[in-house]
Amino acid sequence: MPETKYIFVTGGVTSSLGKGIISASLANLLQARGLKTTIQKFDPYINIDPGTLNPYEHGECFVTDDGAETDLDLGHYERFLNVRTSQANNVTTGRIYQSVIQKERRGEFLGKTVQVIPHITNEIKERMQLLGSTGDYDIVITEIGGTVGDIESLPYIEAVRQLRWELGKESCIVIHLTLVPYLSAAAELKTKPTQHSVKTLMESGINADILVCRTEHELSEDIRNKLALFCNVKREAVIQSIDAKTIYDVPLLMLEEGLDKVVLNLLALPDNLEPDLTSWKSFLTRLKNPKQHIRIGLVGKYVELQDSYKSILEAFIHSGAANEVKVEVVSIHSEHLTPENCSQHLEGLHGLLVAPGFGSRGIEGKISAIQYVRENNIPFFGICLGMQMAVIEFSRNVLGLKTANSIEMDSNTPHPVISLMDEQKEVENKGGTMRLGAWNCSLSANSKAHKIYGAKTISERHRHRFELNNDYVQQLDSHGLKATGINPETGLAEIIEIESHPWFIGVQYHPEYKSTVLAPHPLFSDFVQACSTYAKNI
Ligand code: GLN
Repeated sequence: MPETKYIFVTGGVTSSLGKGIISASLANLLQARGLKTTIQKFDPYINIDPGTLNPYEHGECFVTDDGAETDLDLGHYERFLNVRTSQANNVTTGRIYQSVIQKERRGEFLGKTVQVIPHITNEIKERMQLLGSTGDYDIVITEIGGTVGDIESLPYIEAVRQLRWELGKESCIVIHLTLVPYLSAAAELKTKPTQHSVKTLMESGINADILVCRTEHELSEDIRNKLALFCNVKREAVIQSIDAKTIYDVPLLMLEEGLDKVVLNLLALPDNLEPDLTSWKSFLTRLKNPKQHIRIGLVGKYVELQDSYKSILEAFIHSGAANEVKVEVVSIHSEHLTPENCSQHLEGLHGLLVAPGFGSRGIEGKISAIQYVRENNIPFFGICLGMQMAVIEFSRNVLGLKTANSIEMDSNTPHPVISLMDEQKEVENKGGTMRLGAWNCSLSANSKAHKIYGAKTISERHRHRFELNNDYVQQLDSHGLKATGINPETGLAEIIEIESHPWFIGVQYHPEYKSTVLAPHPLFSDFVQACSTYAKNI
């Protein structure tokens, strides 16, 4: 492979068309043809990263091994490709400007007026080619966040225009994802919004090479011809993306439409070998033919927005398929739970996951739910804040420390069972200062965790400020709640479990970030299995 090829994916008409899924599906097909492929996302907002955003804004914040707090689309990239992303895979306008301004202060542009073109666009182009320049990839797919026509995405579109000239059209192509709406009153699919958004792209000097059209109904031959004619693309480059039952069907739908072939032809790459999708297809078969249906409660405070817990929901899909079980995730708002109504809310569930989160809203509801499942031997999985709440619940109700709390919620609590590490006490800035990214963890022999992972040392990703207070570990242990995973560098407890309970595990890290289609996370798989056993025995 002589050089890295670049594919840009832009969006038109409206947001939420699923650029991330289309990018990931295309990458998946190219990877299945043996091409080393990666995906990156450029977000036009001014935050340096999404780490300080409320999940209601853009959904979950995904975390990479190298500790980058990123857009949730990076989660899709990892889940579809089974390869790790890094800080370089997600760039925001804030980061671009920060870097250009730092250069200006260092005097790198001395004598020059610093402007959007060329300084900002140069910085964008450099970052767009960063992963490609490592020589590790044949193909780099770049998803441009936002919608064409937005003021804030203009510098990115301009950078793509320049790159097309510099690299040539056989090295750099543009896929435009657009919407073909169906008007039920007229019983017709409408192409006009697509025509307009393609025109908007043209005003910025870019002629899309491929149109991927989101639609609820099949595109007829006539519609496809019309789109090709009006939008300046070849007929075979009009790709239908019809609503799918699961996002994991999309690679196969794109294969049927020939998206990967069109891409290879445009990039002057050979298209003779068919992609090998054997493992992907066998995952889909297991996913679609479950032998059992189970219901798992997800307690959180952002449950109104599905995207807030994206990686957890996807991890349940992977682990459900691995167990040939359909996992129905029942969202439960933590603010609605009280000790009195828990049994009513949790009735009929075969397991409970208490989600990550920040701040005190809804925590008493989480604690009540945990007490209920602990006392009723219902499988429990606590992630990050969910694990911290399990420690508080146990301290209050088993150790009898009625005022036990996290100092995140009550800085004056007499029993700070969840506290701050010394180095966190000095931290003033909120952005990028949590314990982030991959840390090692040593598992105790004979623990459930050890059995589940089948390893003595593991590495998992973190995103939190508070920790189990080691002053209480002994007391918790003597009452049956064991710290079975310890960070070998810091001595901090990363995993807790109750031996006498059928399945009660809390983890300070985020296992959901590492679950992929081809490698479901062992903790999720084992939890689903425990819930399945529980369901069979009631
Ligand atoms: N708020 C908790 C902390 O900062 C937990 C964070 C989380 O659940 N990701 O430690």
